[in-house]
Amino acid sequence: MKETKIPGMLCVLISFIPWIIYWILCGMGNATGIVIALVIALLLTTPQIRRMDFNLMDLTSLLYFGTATIATFIFNLNVFVKKSGFLGYFALFLMALLSVIIKQPFTFQASKRDYPEIYWKERSFIVINNLITGVWAGIFMANATMFLLLNRSFAAIFSNTLIAFGIAFSIIFPLKAPAYLATKEFRKYDWKVDVKRSKEENEYDVIIVGSGIGGLTCGALLSKRGYRVLVLEQHSQVGGYCSSFKRKNFVFNTGVENISGLWEKGPITYLLKELGFKKDELF
Ligand SMILES: Cc1cc2nc3c(=O)[nH]c(=O)nc-3n(C[C@H](O)[C@H](O)[C@H](O)COP(=O)(O)OP(=O)(O)OC[C@H]3O[C@@H](n4cnc5c(N)ncnc54)[C@H](O)[C@@H]3O)c2cc1C
Repeated sequence: MKETKIPGMLCVLISFIPWIIYWILCGMGNATGIVIALVIALLLTTPQIRRMDFNLMDLTSLLYFGTATIATFIFNLNVFVKKSGFLGYFALFLMALLSVIIKQPFTFQASKRDYPEIYWKERSFIVINNLITGVWAGIFMANATMFLLLNRSFAAIFSNTLIAFGIAFSIIFPLKAPAYLATKEFRKYDWKVDVKRSKEENEYDVIIVGSGIGGLTCGALLSKRGYRVLVLEQHSQVGGYCSSFKRKNFVFNTGVENISGLWEKGPITYLLKELGFKKDELF
């Protein structure tokens, strides 16, 4: 049976649930919002304690609402109800800032759900998570300041607008940024020839020596972009180490036995899509 996977960003949204309840109820002066938020934070962190894989935002929620419960119901302090907007956002700001300082941006755990382990140490993966966490830190700080300086209704409208922006940014940015960062990295090696100019019969824009999987892929991608390509091969058949030959009804692979990178967002899946091949028909 196929395992149902909750998208990473949805986990961040789920982590907001205790905070939303806290802000709504305490905004109406109802202190039970703190206890309900604490119960939800406990429910969110219990499976993480069992797995020993913690979400920093849920841990912060547990710590904050635990402290708020003790302060409000044991020491009769009203500050966590009265200043719920400022204190809550300031606690989240400290959490986001601390997570960047200790090099564990709080969106890491959520992103790790969407990408295989092979990407987790990739520079672009780390940069993207640092940036998203940095944006959230900015949003949390701006919202804390708004609740400190503006009246409650204005602060609520502006802070929710910023939160909506943060969510949209966290979903769209990881989709667009990897391609942008990779293109930026390769741009320094970029070159161009005039593909529109008509060519003589034996004239080519690019000549590739060797028809292994590298040369063939490169040739296919370049011709798809309009370059006139010639692939030269010394052997009688193409494919290099990624081909096979037959002896007495037995098929022998020249090298490659398995292909990695075929997962959902894997490089080979991307490549096949780019070249118009259907993965399921090939493998
Ligand atoms: C035993 C073995 C098992 C492997 N198993 C796997 C695996 O399971 N999965 C995996 O992902 N990778 C595997 N690899 C690695 C994989 O085979 C290579 O990374 C990949 O095939 C390299 O492709 P390529 O195009 O760079 O070079 P090659 O496949 O080496 O192709 C080079 C081509 O260039 C030609 N050529 C060379 N010089 C000239 C010249 N002067 N003029 C004209 N043509 C020339 C050669 O004849 C050849 O066809 C394996 C490698 C080996 C050796």
